[in-house]
Amino acid sequence: MTQSKHPETLALHAGHRADPTTGSVAVPIHATTAFQFNSTEHAANLFALKELGNIYTRLMNPTCDVLEKRMAAIEGGVAALAVTSGQAASAFAIQNIAKAGDNIVSSTDLYGGSFNLFKNVFKDIGIEVRFADPSDPENFRKLTDARTRAYYAETLPNPKLEIFPIAEVAAIGLEHGIPLIMDNTAAPIICKPIEHGAAIVVYSLTKWVGGHGNALGGMIIDSGNFDWEKFPQRQPALNTPDPSYHGAVWTQAVKGIGPVAYIIKARTTLLRDLGSALSPFNAFLILQGLETLTLRMRAHCENAVKVTEFLKKHPAVSRVIHPSIAEGKAKDRAQKYLKGARDTFMGGSLIGFELKDGVEAGKNFIDSLELAYHVANIGDARTLAIHPASTTHSQLTAKEQLLAGVTPGYVRLSIGIEHPDDIIADISQALDKASSGIVKKVA
Ligand code: PLP
Repeated sequence: MTQSKHPETLALHAGHRADPTTGSVAVPIHATTAFQFNSTEHAANLFALKELGNIYTRLMNPTCDVLEKRMAAIEGGVAALAVTSGQAASAFAIQNIAKAGDNIVSSTDLYGGSFNLFKNVFKDIGIEVRFADPSDPENFRKLTDARTRAYYAETLPNPKLEIFPIAEVAAIGLEHGIPLIMDNTAAPIICKPIEHGAAIVVYSLTKWVGGHGNALGGMIIDSGNFDWEKFPQRQPALNTPDPSYHGAVWTQAVKGIGPVAYIIKARTTLLRDLGSALSPFNAFLILQGLETLTLRMRAHCENAVKVTEFLKKHPAVSRVIHPSIAEGKAKDRAQKYLKGARDTFMGGSLIGFELKDGVEAGKNFIDSLELAYHVANIGDARTLAIHPASTTHSQLTAKEQLLAGVTPGYVRLSIGIEHPDDIIADISQALDKASSGIVKKVA
């Protein structure tokens, strides 16, 4: 196991050297549901958490284990849990510490799917989500009460693309014993939320980490830095006996293993009882992506800056949003939080822009693209585009859309790693057609 702290090296080596049985250098796909116990004593020890080891793939799997270790190493966490999707990661991260009657405070700037989860599903199961405008971190404090169990936000939320004040809100949380959970899906490598005080980091691995648009996956990473034991009233889930695991008090039960109470509880209760275990096949595909993530992020970010500069000068475009051209407080936050593996500013690869001619021009633009794909996804190696108001954010009311930064004519681009001249040429011809009203009808 490498001791390196460099993400380029960790992405290739952390969690796996060579397979001890076969010598396989590539991470093997362990396509098995169950694992043989050495003896009845061994089996009993595994179930009692006296020993850690493989039991059943719904709980753990060696292929997923490499992905978990690699992601934890890159983020600077102590342990991680792989799940089926980013949605499952967000849901589990919160349900692990909040139950009916509790609440969390979340940023208003969220992916539409997370907003739906919080507003509807969590409401149905009795977890209240209070929404705070992140432009002032103090809004989180204002919405906190005795039953607030967590703060939640996205590092680089689309479509506003304004960087979340991680350290500021984490500090407010620490005063109250409240962990900050950061969804870092859009900023792998370029932001490490744990370094800024986040307690838990969640990912949709489906996006940049996998990077090839071929597998869904999610990850929860435990920083190991949050002192759950210090706040027994605030964090009862980890400090009172858990009837679902022989009355285990998680902060005590795992003391011998390390500061991993949060993530062990998520695995041994939520994953055990609700499922959502990542398939080892998907873990393998995502590992392939992860190995080149640092290179791809650099290319994604460099291309996005070039496209931003092109769009800024285009006469058909009224507004462009990308962290590289943020101003005022948003600029300060972008410069503070977004840094690549070599410590230089990298603004991510999402771009938002508005066409002067509004909704119809926006739709015409999308229909005229030839290289970029029109899909409900982000973070693929290919360039992607979408009109959020009629797709990803369509289940939100008009007011909710505006709160999330989705105006009717807004177009979102996820810039890929093709040659930048080809991306710009495609956008340029689509803008020309959109503004002249000539739309190529897709068969
Ligand atoms: N978080 C963010 C920021 C996302 O953009 C998405 C999906 O687009 C998710 C979470 C959900 O991820 P998944 O589609 O893997 O469930």
